[in-house]
Amino acid sequence: MRRYYFDHNATTPVAPEVLEAMLPYLRDVHGNASSIHSFGQEARLGVDRARRQTASLLGCAARDVVFTSGGTEADNLAIFGVLRAARGGHAITSRVEHPAVLHAFEKLEREGVAVDYLPVNADGLVAADDVRAALRPDTALISVMHANNELGTIQPVAEIGRVAREAGVRLHTDGVQSCGKIPLRVGELGVDFFSLSAHKFYGPKGVGALYVRRGVQLENVQYGGSHERGRRPGTENVPGIVGLGAAAALAEKSLAAEGARLAALRDRLETEVLRRIEHCRINGRGAPRAPNTTSIRFDRVEGEALLIALDLRGCAVSSGAACSSGAVEPSHVLIAAGLDRGQAKSTLRFSLGRDTDDQHIDALVRALEEATTHLRALSPAYAEA
Ligand code: PLP
Repeated sequence: MRRYYFDHNATTPVAPEVLEAMLPYLRDVHGNASSIHSFGQEARLGVDRARRQTASLLGCAARDVVFTSGGTEADNLAIFGVLRAARGGHAITSRVEHPAVLHAFEKLEREGVAVDYLPVNADGLVAADDVRAALRPDTALISVMHANNELGTIQPVAEIGRVAREAGVRLHTDGVQSCGKIPLRVGELGVDFFSLSAHKFYGPKGVGALYVRRGVQLENVQYGGSHERGRRPGTENVPGIVGLGAAAALAEKSLAAEGARLAALRDRLETEVLRRIEHCRINGRGAPRAPNTTSIRFDRVEGEALLIALDLRGCAVSSGAACSSGAVEPSHVLIAAGLDRGQAKSTLRFSLGRDTDDQHIDALVRALEEATTHLRALSPAYAEA
């Protein structure tokens, strides 16, 4: 059976160009990038090039890029780093953040930091005016994500950036789902911190970066050597960092054309689903979105059952629910966007990527049509409605 992957927001395969770039650093160049001898210098050259490539994608200076172990660590470094440097105070975030942000703030709340979790509209968007209204004299950080991992909707970060600058408050954005997918310049977004993760845009897993605007105060989260200008101690993951750099260069080169191609495929998927399957809704369709993502509600179909039925037909997708402590809980993002528990649990996320083509979309639509018809035929609730 042919398999089709529609879960690129969970992770992407390593691009062949990225693997090529990494191989010498896995095979031959084994030096410690902090060593003074030639072995170390060889590794250092790879790290330096990757820093320039990553900076070029973000539109910042190479020295503003701090390599981390991924998006989660980048988020934690920004959030704990600012609030600990500020010795507590107040922070503003949204209800639709990734757990890497939400759980960091929950931990800080237990340490005495006050946190406002702003509501979102039906497209999952925060209003910049709500950010302004939540500001307090002791607000130390605003953290609002760029593209949402479930809906794909893009927050008005530049607008929030203007609010943050006027108030003199630091702004972090979790750009893990936007980086490599949409054009961005950290200067235009007006952010002080931007988190990214290589494995979301065809780089390896376990490596990411945090953009840190020059001059901002950030307390360390880890303690050790003086790597990454003292911001993030620990021997550099040279092959991973080289892979991140290569993925950034690849994204920079292909982003515009690939974005347009994916948006067209995504739009065709949505049109076909709405035309061929009854009682479906697209979540977040009213807002600007990352071109590869769609979140679709299949009313009165259990999302988990549909996910499994699609998997049996070779299509890998993601559901709007997460398994926590053994129970399937509806996604906090969909609930925040106003869906009820049933609607959230009947939502699936489809995230397209470099390997997706028209044939993949045809196969997915066919599988969805078959699986929803089958599941609804089994459901007394559907028959009664
Ligand atoms: N933030 C967002 C929006 C994400 O989608 C993810 C990954 O799913 C992360 C953070 C965490 O990134 P990583 O897997 O690199 O730790």
